[in-house]
Amino acid sequence: MKKILLIATGGTIASKATEEGLSPKISSEELLSYVPKAREFCTIDAIQVLNIDSTNIQPEYWLTIVKAIKDNYADYDGFVVSHGTDTMAYSAAALSYLIQNSPKPIVITGAQKPIDMDVTDARTNLFDSLLYACHPNAHGVCLVFDGDVIAGTRARKVRSKSYNAFESINFPALATIHDGRVIQYINNGATSSYPAFYENIHPSVFLLKLVPGLSPNVLSAIAEQYDAIVIESYGVGGIPNDSKRDFLAEIDRLVGMGKIIVMTTQVMNEGSDMQVYAVGRVAKERHGLIEAFDMTTEALVTKLMWIMGQTDNPQTIKSMFYTTINHDIMFQG
Ligand code: ASP
Repeated sequence: MKKILLIATGGTIASKATEEGLSPKISSEELLSYVPKAREFCTIDAIQVLNIDSTNIQPEYWLTIVKAIKDNYADYDGFVVSHGTDTMAYSAAALSYLIQNSPKPIVITGAQKPIDMDVTDARTNLFDSLLYACHPNAHGVCLVFDGDVIAGTRARKVRSKSYNAFESINFPALATIHDGRVIQYINNGATSSYPAFYENIHPSVFLLKLVPGLSPNVLSAIAEQYDAIVIESYGVGGIPNDSKRDFLAEIDRLVGMGKIIVMTTQVMNEGSDMQVYAVGRVAKERHGLIEAFDMTTEALVTKLMWIMGQTDNPQTIKSMFYTTINHDIMFQG
C-alpha cells in the first residue's frame, strides 16, 4: 500500500461557521475522518502546517509547505496539500517552481464548501486527491479539483462559487477522475529520481493591470518598492505609446535601472504575441521586455519570485523565465 502524507493549511475545506463567517478550524486528522474509504488503498498520515484562510497566504508560507514536503520526502510515496481555493492557483504554481521534477506526486486541493457540511465537494476532492497521489503515473505538482487534474502551473480559479471552480489554461488537463477511476491524458514520465528543492524566494513582484487612462507615472512609484513589474496588457499585447500617456519612456528608464518588466495579457485564453501589432513589437524590440506568451499570471508571478530568489542578473532571469517548468510555457513566438 502506498503511503501518503496529508499536509493541511486551512481554507474552506477545513472551515466551520463562526459568528464572523467561515473560518478554518478543522484539523488535518479530522479532515481524514471524512474520507474513511481512502484507507482501503493507502495509509495516510496527516500534519497541519498552517490553518489560514488562503487570502492570507504569503510567499514565506510556501517555503513552510516546501520544508514539510522535503523533511518527509523519503518517508512517503506522495503528498496531498489541502488549501483554500482563493490563492490555490498561486500556491500550485509556486510549489511547481520550488519543488521541480518530483518523481512523487504533490497534489494540492481544496473545496468550495466545508467538509463537515451535508452537501459539499470537499469529500470528493480530498478522496480524489488521495486516489491520484497513489496513481502509478502521477508525479510532480498538480491541482485536483472537481474531477480534473491540472498541472500546477496551469490552474486558474474561474468561478467563485460553483464546484467546477478551476480550469486548466492554455494546456489540457493531465487527467480526469470519475467515480474512483483515473484516466491519465498526459503522461511524460518522471525525469529524475529526486526533486530539486529551493529555499529562497524574492516576493518583490508587482502586477499592474492596464486600463485606458492609466498614468505612466505609476511605474516609477512602483519601482521604488518592487524589483519586477508585470504589465497585464490587452489582447495579444502592446504598450500604450499615445502622446497623452506614453509608457515607453518610463519603461526605458526602469529597464536602465535594472528593473525586470514582463508583459502579459488580461485575456485569460490563448496568451500574448507581441509580434503582431506595432504597439507590441516596438515595445518588445526597443525595450527587451520579457513576454509571458501562454503562461498564466499566477505562474509567471510566482516564477519571477522563484527566479529572483536565485539570481539578480537580468540576462539569467530572462533565460530562466523562458525555460519550461512543469508545462508552464509552451509557446514562445
Ligand atoms: N477564502 C477561502 C480560502 O481561500 C476560500 C476557499 O477555500 O474556497 O481560504
